[in-house]
Amino acid sequence: MAKHTIVLIPGDGIGPEVTKATTRVVEAAGLSVDWVELPAGAAALEQGFDNVLPERTLAAIRAHHLALKGPVTTPVGKGFTSVNVQLRKKLNLYAAVRPVRSLPGIKTRFENIDMVIVRENTEGLYSGIENEVVPGVVTSLKVASEVACTRIARWAFRYATKKKRKKLTVFHKANIMKLTDGMFLNSARRIYEDEYPNIEYEEVIIDAGCMKLVQNPERMDVLLMENLYGDLVSDLCAGLVGGLGVVPGSNIGDEAAVFEAVHGSAPDIAGKGVANPLALIMTAEMMLTHMGETAIAQKIRKGYDAVLTEGKSLTRDLGGSAGTDQFADAVIGAMK
Ligand code: NAD
Repeated sequence: MAKHTIVLIPGDGIGPEVTKATTRVVEAAGLSVDWVELPAGAAALEQGFDNVLPERTLAAIRAHHLALKGPVTTPVGKGFTSVNVQLRKKLNLYAAVRPVRSLPGIKTRFENIDMVIVRENTEGLYSGIENEVVPGVVTSLKVASEVACTRIARWAFRYATKKKRKKLTVFHKANIMKLTDGMFLNSARRIYEDEYPNIEYEEVIIDAGCMKLVQNPERMDVLLMENLYGDLVSDLCAGLVGGLGVVPGSNIGDEAAVFEAVHGSAPDIAGKGVANPLALIMTAEMMLTHMGETAIAQKIRKGYDAVLTEGKSLTRDLGGSAGTDQFADAVIGAMK
């Protein structure tokens, strides 16, 4: 097997704990890999870099095209532009992909959830372009470009077709934001009509869409939405299948891909060894599939499915008492 080189960003808070657990699982599953470990976030400042996203980290991802990233802490209301926003913009990682599915052994209100959120990752209201007009009056700019709207719509339909998905639902608020969400919606509709009539297509206004999500999430398949909506709906959907500890994610561009779980740095449990590494292990599984290492990806999935089904080594967020390392050890044991 060819040796892979992957940039590893441990990140902040629970990041180093869950990334360590994940790299152990990936190596135990048989991947031949050199990890190029580099900092981002508060960790970068602590190591003496003058930016939360050091140029060296960015250059390594550009060179190797692939990174596995832990969460980073972003200060609220002050300081540097978010690492994640910078990464996604500078590397043009325009598609955030977040599969949300019911897992064996995890009891929630719903069963048979199997959906994928495709979030536009580079513009919308999440760009952080803000302005003080006069003291006491501030604005936040929502940006939509036809290029980006068309690009993400085409990506989502192509993904749905490749993964043999049946339906694509666009979430929007074009009744109010007629220009920006209108452009997003029209781009999706055009790609559907011109290029992908094979997929069932649906449009929902996001407020009603959120209600549908918590009433009948089993009916959802591929969900397409702009940046901020995707951010919010991802966490909502995580709650439907067991929480942030079980939802993986990726940020995909034409030149590079950065794989990271949906959850943040969880400062409330950082350093305690109790974080659930499953979301990042599932994220690594996505990365392996993206790399073409499907046999190793499947081995990892079978491993964690077995551990979840048995139910003895679950972390606290899933009702168990195992720590981060214990869970990873159980997955490694189940892969043998
Ligand atoms: P969070 O996702 O860190 O935590 C929300 C809740 O979920 C907390 O109670 C936490 O303990 C729990 N949780 C999250 N991940 C878990 C896991 N793996 N196992 C068990 N429990 C888990 O969200 P937050 O508290 O809003 O944000 C904390 C920091 O993370 C902020 O600085 C935020 O900006 C940042 N953040 C970073 C990313 C990223 O780097 N991709 C994503 C989201 C938030």
